[in-house]
Amino acid sequence: MNIERSISAFARARRVISGGVNSPVRAFRAVGGSPIFMKGGAGPILYDLDGHEYIDYVLSWGPLILGHAHPEVVRAIVRAAQRGSSFGTPTQAETELAELVCSMVPSIERVRFTSSGTEATMSAIRLARGYTKREKIVKFAGGYHGHGDSFLIAAGSGALTNGEPNSPGVTHGTARDTLVLPYNDPAAVGAAFEAHPEEIAAVIVEPYAGNMGLVLPRDGYLQALRELCSRYGALLIFDEVITGFRVARGGAQEREGVLPDLTTLGKVLGGGLPVGAFGGSAEVMLHLSPDGPVYQAGTLSGNPLAMAAGLATLRTIANDATMYDRLEVLTKLLCDGLHEIFSKHGIPHCTNRVGSMMCTFFTAGPVSDLESAMKSDTAFYAKYFHAMIDSGIYLAPAQFETGFLSAAHSTHDIELTLDAADRSLERLAADR
Ligand SMILES: *Cc1c(COP(=O)(O)O)cnc(C)c1O
Repeated sequence: MNIERSISAFARARRVISGGVNSPVRAFRAVGGSPIFMKGGAGPILYDLDGHEYIDYVLSWGPLILGHAHPEVVRAIVRAAQRGSSFGTPTQAETELAELVCSMVPSIERVRFTSSGTEATMSAIRLARGYTKREKIVKFAGGYHGHGDSFLIAAGSGALTNGEPNSPGVTHGTARDTLVLPYNDPAAVGAAFEAHPEEIAAVIVEPYAGNMGLVLPRDGYLQALRELCSRYGALLIFDEVITGFRVARGGAQEREGVLPDLTTLGKVLGGGLPVGAFGGSAEVMLHLSPDGPVYQAGTLSGNPLAMAAGLATLRTIANDATMYDRLEVLTKLLCDGLHEIFSKHGIPHCTNRVGSMMCTFFTAGPVSDLESAMKSDTAFYAKYFHAMIDSGIYLAPAQFETGFLSAAHSTHDIELTLDAADRSLERLAADR
């Protein structure tokens, strides 16, 4: 496939942007080849610089649950821009979005907006430490919570595929305060609390782990975390930056019926603009400045354009009674079809799926933690990725990521995708 324009655009970018990209996984290092530059998107489709079209299963890494350039979202952003892009004062749009968040996410009574998921998780951890007056945190191997220092220990996503799960530049002191445990292993968490009964401020977890591929919690796992945190006086933080408004209106906490003390949000919340948020009970959030002593701030936090995009997105979701059911049905259709095709071609695989999140690992599975996720044949993933690109399907350019569907995807898109997968695997078999 001719991607000449993307190749020269990347060469130009590399002369002025570190690595040519502003987030490492975009550089295609995990799959090889040159990243494809996009010039636009509409609904489920991406358009690249060289005139190709792709059915998009990355969706800006999760935010675009309504698809690209949804008319309501576009209109809201344009209208907000015409009124002025930023004031550095409170605006009513922030309250309106906060009211929606508090009404949709079961455990949130008070919220604060940030400009990224990373800021949200960093702030939530600081608040947990300030509230509990303890310093250690527990995270899980393969869990990704943005690029804050405390989280770059055994981190997932791009840190796993493009960098170092334990990044240089993080001090030993910070690393010492982060306890890393295997996901889906409640006994390991119990043991950590026994070893440090009064030192752990918080346990931070992606309730559905979406940054080592997709790994789902075993029955009772999240409940066990809830009980242990309550017993030892630590805060339970659900990092729902991906799952918030993605797997249900109220995120994974609604689906699982487990309420965390703090929740971090991002991605879908901003409808494609830079927004993050963290929230919890009024009692805990009272410790945040200016009510309390824990400092947190942002020049562009609650930005009017970002709030407008978030409001348009959440209102559209709130007004669509069947959206999550449709997404679930469509995602199952795709995953069942892929299972059939991979089986037909004799390819060991394991597909994890929840709501409109999905990931196929090229190992027989089951995949239930980082160790089992790492068994996937990533060299095969790279070949499959490129074959799918050639067939007009845009998948994540790395194995350890989650794929997404949007409300703009149709049954016809799924049929085209399955057909592309079948043809791709045939070609790969012929090449072997
Ligand atoms: C994407 C992500 C983050 C970080 O959000 P950014 O907006 O990229 O800073 C944090 N936690 C999880 C679970 C994520 O998937």
